[in-house]
Amino acid sequence: MTRKQKRKQKQKRKQTATSAPTAHAPLFNWPVIQPSQDSHALALQYQFDRSQWWQEKDLLAHQLRRIQNVIDHAAATVPFYRDRLAAAARLKAGALTLEAFRAIPFLTRADIQDAGAALASRTPPKGHGAVFPVRSSGSTGRPVKVQGTGLTSLLSNAFTMRGHIWHKRNFDAKNVDIRTAFPAGQEPAHAKWAPVVATGPSIRFDIARPISELCDDLVQADPAYLQTHPNTLAGLIERSIEIGAAPESLREVRTFGETLEPAIRAMAREHWNVPVVDSYSAMELGIIAHQCPETTSLHIQSEGVLVEVLDGDRVCRPGEVGRVVLTALHNFATPLIRYDIGDYAKVGAACSCGRGLPVLDRVVGRERTLLVYPNGDRQFPEARYGIERIAPIRQFQLTQKTVERIEVKLAVSRPLRGDEEAEVRAVLTDRLRYAFDYEFVYVDEITRAANGKFFEFQSEVSTLPTRADN
Ligand SMILES: [Zn+2]
Repeated sequence: MTRKQKRKQKQKRKQTATSAPTAHAPLFNWPVIQPSQDSHALALQYQFDRSQWWQEKDLLAHQLRRIQNVIDHAAATVPFYRDRLAAAARLKAGALTLEAFRAIPFLTRADIQDAGAALASRTPPKGHGAVFPVRSSGSTGRPVKVQGTGLTSLLSNAFTMRGHIWHKRNFDAKNVDIRTAFPAGQEPAHAKWAPVVATGPSIRFDIARPISELCDDLVQADPAYLQTHPNTLAGLIERSIEIGAAPESLREVRTFGETLEPAIRAMAREHWNVPVVDSYSAMELGIIAHQCPETTSLHIQSEGVLVEVLDGDRVCRPGEVGRVVLTALHNFATPLIRYDIGDYAKVGAACSCGRGLPVLDRVVGRERTLLVYPNGDRQFPEARYGIERIAPIRQFQLTQKTVERIEVKLAVSRPLRGDEEAEVRAVLTDRLRYAFDYEFVYVDEITRAANGKFFEFQSEVSTLPTRADN
């Protein structure tokens, strides 16, 4: 190697090192973190391989120690938390009990919206890497903005890899991803479908295109793996039955983002002869739970997040449905402590596989139906409208009343002006690709249906898919 090459290599190493968390991140002792993102995400698998078999109470003890670090840091450097964490932050190291933890008030989506910069740490630990914004569309029509760090993205990659390893995916195989399109000009030159390792080709189809077109392209691409939202999957299977063609090489479908109804798993098995593997994630938290490699249970990724499922303040038992409250173990830039994300889940019993990672049977209440066009086409209603940037909109809900008319329900601090309504109308027409007749309805708060379901979008016209009740 010439001297010039050596210098270049040294420079490159230096650049990589500055963006990655370091071994000496002061607030970090479990799981242990070493420099270099990729080797790290792999090295973590070794620790995950062991911690997944720990008993639930041992996982919880580790989590509480970790959370105490987050609490101390938040109380000292995040204005929003100074008072609310005062009691919990005064404890000796290792003294945080579950009881003391449960006395901390919930952090609601409205709190995050209202707190703004007051929820950001004034001094995120330097060793946690670069801080960047994360925006979530949310499952309750109430978008929030938080911050992530090099460390949170490392953990996110590591948990994503764990899912691939659990399900023994062949990294050489071809993948089709049907989801929100990359912003124009930001498509990666060499798309891959797993972090850290090289993979076979990954093709992304824009989920906002009509199901009929997506189905044709899927059959043509004929991948081994498909990743998309459950209701888009249901639409694709229905369409594939209609046209009498299926993606022949498909081995497995991965779903995310919505409630996966058992009926959709059954459709995929019956018509495409493939299993569906579900996951539960949120933009602001990353992966929360992965489907077990042996059953359909969702295992919480306890090394990264503490999940409480509550009915009021009461902890739900297996079989019961409650509100999901999350505490992120590694986010010191925007600490999320007892975050009431707005999702509901059914608690599962201990999994027959023997892993100690706690179980959710399923996430409920993230429902979405397909939009129906006057010409009969159906498509997934794009969720990221960004209309909250136009006016002070706290929540929104779209209901397709007829093939021509959509009700736009907005929870606002004041009704929109004529020009703002026109702008919202223009955004919706652009995103939904049709000039529907938009009817504005103003309310103070958009509440869930009695069964706990919340719809960002619902169609009273769509008849698909047929689902079992929760
Ligand atoms: Zn299991």
